Amino acid sequence: MKKEIKSEELAGLLEGKTVEESLQALISLFPGKIIFSTSFGFEDQVLTHFIFKNELPIEVITIDTGRIFHETYMVFNETIKKYQKKIKVYFPDREAIEKMVTEKGPFSFYYSKENRLECCRLRKVVPLNRALAGKKCWISGIRADQSDNRGRMNIVEYDEGRKMFKVHPLFYWSFDDVTEFIKKNNIPYNFLHNKGFVSIGCEPCTRAVKPGEDFRAGRWWWEHGREKECGLHIK
Ligand code: SF4
Repeated sequence: MKKEIKSEELAGLLEGKTVEESLQALISLFPGKIIFSTSFGFEDQVLTHFIFKNELPIEVITIDTGRIFHETYMVFNETIKKYQKKIKVYFPDREAIEKMVTEKGPFSFYYSKENRLECCRLRKVVPLNRALAGKKCWISGIRADQSDNRGRMNIVEYDEGRKMFKVHPLFYWSFDDVTEFIKKNNIPYNFLHNKGFVSIGCEPCTRAVKPGEDFRAGRWWWEHGREKECGLHIK
């Protein structure tokens, strides 16, 4: 029986490797079982570039919550046109969304954290779990300096609930590293980044941040507390 690798071993294996080398190592370890989920932010566009430019056998997917920005669809479109590749789209369950919006209205998430988490679960987490089913390794664009919560993560983690590794190849990149790479490689990016939007999610739940504000300050800004996550990346 093939020996199961541990998170620490995997992290050790990736240590000192470039993003390309890390992705190649993961492909060898988990052939046909690697997935990358993009929401078309700066970091995700960098990883998409590495995957598509090098024709890597990693499935690229996105979740269309039904509430994303027009600008996000534009960068989605620009990306598939530039690389001539497909990005698989996952939608939420129609009946569940119809029920929630019928019973609670289109802005239920502003009224309580419980409602907000329900909406994130139905629109993001459930379709994401559908996409991740059967996979062994999930690539994400998380960087350590994006938030306190993300700073407490590691470059490699094991998601017990989903029984899979989560790997963040850009974990040690700075924001400047990311934007310079985008510019140098002429990678399409979300124009909302030019208007002070840093972390971009759904339109009603995202706003621009002021200089010096936390990376996640523009997400669910009406909620208090430091943990600004939707349930996808909570540690
Ligand atoms: Fe719903 Fe807002 Fe979460 Fe999007 S970010 S799924 S609109 S609560």
